[in-house]
Amino acid sequence: MPEREEERGYEEERRRMVEHLSRHGVSEEVLEAMMQVERHLFVLPNLSDQAYEDYPLPIGEGQTISAPHMVAMMCDYLELKKGEKVLEIGAGSGYHAAVIAEIIGEKGQVYSVERIPWLVEFSSENLKRAGYKNVTVILGDGTLGLPDHAPYDKISVTCAAPDVPPPLLEQLKTGGKMVIPIGRYVQELYLVEKKDRIEKERKCDVLFVPLVGRYGFH
Ligand code: SAH
Repeated sequence: MPEREEERGYEEERRRMVEHLSRHGVSEEVLEAMMQVERHLFVLPNLSDQAYEDYPLPIGEGQTISAPHMVAMMCDYLELKKGEKVLEIGAGSGYHAAVIAEIIGEKGQVYSVERIPWLVEFSSENLKRAGYKNVTVILGDGTLGLPDHAPYDKISVTCAAPDVPPPLLEQLKTGGKMVIPIGRYVQELYLVEKKDRIEKERKCDVLFVPLVGRYGFH
């Protein structure tokens, strides 16, 4: 009997995606997490068959779910550890938050701020269906961070900012790391480390939707 679409596990497709990522130098830990997260539960239903292709997909409201290699690279740069508290800006589909949650484990906690109400609903629903209990999606302007749960071990910004929003730096622990795309038309991904002073390292060229808000684009 043919499998009903919603019952498909897409395991073979997921394995192929992970194999492809492994050829790009992604760490074992991140690959293992991406083998666990059911990406087809985070895309619009009519795009399920493309869920494991390595390119971004539309998720509505003019926003996109990032390409798998971008999620993998950003997680690798953060050097996520079990039990960490992570702030994500831009929940979108909830997929990137799920990968982070998978890596930091049940004792870890992800808070993800999203400015579009429909995407708060979409990501929360996807995360619930996929079984992630340690991710909380909150409606708000992520350029202000989320002071209630600060400070954070790591911060992952998944939309492009004009510069690092000062509240995010304040809410990062000393010794913490943040990944953030910076720029409007030409964008670069930066790894920011908070030590005695702030260290900013340019990693690569990227293409993200804009961070819109008080310390973002207007
Ligand atoms: N991490 C997402 C990618 C989402 S795209 C995923 O895995 O699917 C970036 C998201 O950032 C969009 O959903 C957009 O609405 C959101 N965004 C843009 N500016 C924001 C802001 N100031 N605060 C919170 N979210 C913001």
